[in-house]
Amino acid sequence: MSDKKITKVTNEASSSSAANDTWKPTEDNKSKAITFRVIAAIAWAIAIGFEIWGILKLKGGDVQENGMTMLIILIVVALIFAVAGNLLWKKANKLDPASKKNKFKFWVQNQLGAIISAVAFLPLVILILTDKNIDGKQKGILGAIAGAALLIGVGTGIDFNPPSVEQYTEETQRVDDLGFNSVFWTKSGTKYHLYNTCGYINGDRTNEIFTGTVGECKADKNISELCSRCEGQAEKEKESNILDLDPDSEELLDLEEDLDAA
Ligand SMILES: [Zn+2]
Repeated sequence: MSDKKITKVTNEASSSSAANDTWKPTEDNKSKAITFRVIAAIAWAIAIGFEIWGILKLKGGDVQENGMTMLIILIVVALIFAVAGNLLWKKANKLDPASKKNKFKFWVQNQLGAIISAVAFLPLVILILTDKNIDGKQKGILGAIAGAALLIGVGTGIDFNPPSVEQYTEETQRVDDLGFNSVFWTKSGTKYHLYNTCGYINGDRTNEIFTGTVGECKADKNISELCSRCEGQAEKEKESNILDLDPDSEELLDLEEDLDAA
């Protein structure tokens, strides 16, 4: 049951810092996040570049002269770069999340992919639908393609479960309170666990279990919940640890009682 492959995600000695410290990313994850953000920004710039090229083609009468192919290719290439940028940006936010203290900054940082995608595709959709030089059929096809690109771009850019420093801090503290400094999770799971023996992750379908700090778990997978079964067990163990005396000293007490009785 428990001879699963356990992969340690920790790449730095995780300091067991005081429980009420604000969570901070490791230096390694911080620099990774910067790299991802730079690449995301470049990908978005390329997407907007292709979108502007598409607008110029449309306005220049290319669709009337040469058909829709070129414009469709430009839209698809722009979408690929936009989505790549969106996914990298969200990954960076998991590695190095924003703080909820500044609500506006928090919203912009987490939803930037959706904002950029709207900026990239919405003008194109409007220009296609209002263009007087292309016929109705072309308008329908190009409008649908650009509209789909807008939806996919914004959809992949939205973060419905945006990570925050506060959330990472709170969850790390909770695990710390229960007496643990690392957690376990699987590739497909939606919760992290305190025990690698937990029935939810140590089933027959699992062949690899990951372990690391709460922050590392969240950087790896966007998991925001502690397994309730593990939490219950940890609470029980914590209580019994406080209530029970050390078994050795209990034995010693019994022995002393026996001696007294004799
Ligand atoms: Zn569990």
